Amino acid sequence: MNIGSTLTQAAAAHPDHIAIIHGDKTLSYRAFNERANRLASQFRALGIRPGDRVGILQRNGPELLETLFATFKAGAVAVPINARSHPKEYAYILENSGCSAVVFQEDFVAGLDTVRHALPDLCIFIAIGAASTWSTPYENLVASGDPADADVDCAPHDLAWLFYTSGTTGKPKGAMNCHANLQFMSDHYPREVYQLGPHDVVLHPGPLTHGSGLWSIPITAGAGTHLIPSGTSFDPDEIFRLIEKHRVTKIAFIAPTMITMLLNAPTIDRHDLSSLRFLGYGGAPMYVEDLKRAIQQWGPILCQVYGQGESPMTISLLKREDHKLPGDPAAERRLASAGRVREDIELAILDEADHEVPEGEIGEIAIRGEIVMRGYWNMPEATAEVFKGGWYHSGDLGMRDADGYVFLLDRKKEMIISGGANVYPRELEEVFLLHPGVLEVAVIGIPDRLWGESVMAVVRPRPGASPTEGELLTLCREHLAGYKKPRFIRYQDDLPKNSYGKILKRELKQSILAEIPKVAT
Ligand code: AMP
Repeated sequence: MNIGSTLTQAAAAHPDHIAIIHGDKTLSYRAFNERANRLASQFRALGIRPGDRVGILQRNGPELLETLFATFKAGAVAVPINARSHPKEYAYILENSGCSAVVFQEDFVAGLDTVRHALPDLCIFIAIGAASTWSTPYENLVASGDPADADVDCAPHDLAWLFYTSGTTGKPKGAMNCHANLQFMSDHYPREVYQLGPHDVVLHPGPLTHGSGLWSIPITAGAGTHLIPSGTSFDPDEIFRLIEKHRVTKIAFIAPTMITMLLNAPTIDRHDLSSLRFLGYGGAPMYVEDLKRAIQQWGPILCQVYGQGESPMTISLLKREDHKLPGDPAAERRLASAGRVREDIELAILDEADHEVPEGEIGEIAIRGEIVMRGYWNMPEATAEVFKGGWYHSGDLGMRDADGYVFLLDRKKEMIISGGANVYPRELEEVFLLHPGVLEVAVIGIPDRLWGESVMAVVRPRPGASPTEGELLTLCREHLAGYKKPRFIRYQDDLPKNSYGKILKRELKQSILAEIPKVAT
């Protein structure tokens, strides 16, 4: 088996169908496959062996998909790295994964040059665009490679993709996804998530190094057309224009913050988006008030995914038919959920002793099934810890209702314990966002001598709005038990986020404590 053969097969079945659109450039499935084959043959010629790791340090573009599939086809292990990472961050991933090669765009030359000497395993540098003295030009390699299919035969448990977690609670860890995990994900995608075929034009606004890249596999298997925006950052106008121009049927995977940006764009009503049938979002909390606006705007085309790199890319789904408004209180309540567990895995909510908690009670979300990763790269202890008792422990807290809907609270490490009582930041964040003047909010625990921790809400007001403490505390009183109300409310325009748009609460807390140490005592 080889997950890269999904491309081989799509090219055999639909050689002239458009596989990739990027700006003015289009590639047929035949050309996409041949270019991936040429690169795979060059990987072999350069000494990259099955099991070797290949770093992919690229912004979205056709070459990223070519590199991904070439790596699979060569039996090597893809290590996609978010292109917005700092050189220190990508150096960490390149080093931790022991990459022997990296394929990167020319503007990473300066950053890579500052770190490459400290990475002894890394000796093959392939540059897209202008090459430096120490790198080989990508296009030269592709031009002189062998276009014939020669996909390496891999064992199901051979590694295919090291997915570095986004590191919101510590250093990123490499989740080991093997060919069987990705094949399982790809085979089950059409039934669980969305039917896909050559008629589909799928837009990738999110990074292909993350969920969109994982889902590029089933999209390729279905011979859909990948439409890749050519802008270097997320631009709502470009997204609207592309949907209208190419009659996009599906948005692969988009972060909740991007949905909010689309909803807030002044041009939102100026384009015909009627071709859109599916909009997948997830990777971070989607707050109910924002979700309601999105449903009002686009109708029931939204589908929420709760997933992790450790379970690519789905644990549960809030399907399109669950995105209904308004009237039915049960349906509305479920908008705060992450939907139901996908059919092909088992989910349990466990207490500290790894016993299942009763329905409606909070515990750690744990799963098992064929989609789950093999473990963390070179981290046997961390692997043993998350797999204790035979379940993969997600580190996320949640509960399940009588109908099987899973409600996510927070990362276990982000739960606040104040005076012995558990406070779940997500609950408070949902309440704060009911205030029209609140654009974003992060609730964190601040060390407190008396209470252990006390609750702080860090609010980013909407431009021109100034929600007062009194108004916000009144909202809390209306919706929550008194002990949950924040002791501190702070206003701040820039909340630190990682490169996937998730708020980095650890950093936020550290910066606040550094600035006002006395708040803690
Ligand atoms: P990563 O593997 O880097 O994408 O991070 C996965 C983590 O993102 C999960 O463990 C959750 O904490 C969070 N996450 C993913 N999907 C959702 C979702 N739909 N709602 C809330 N949080 C999510």
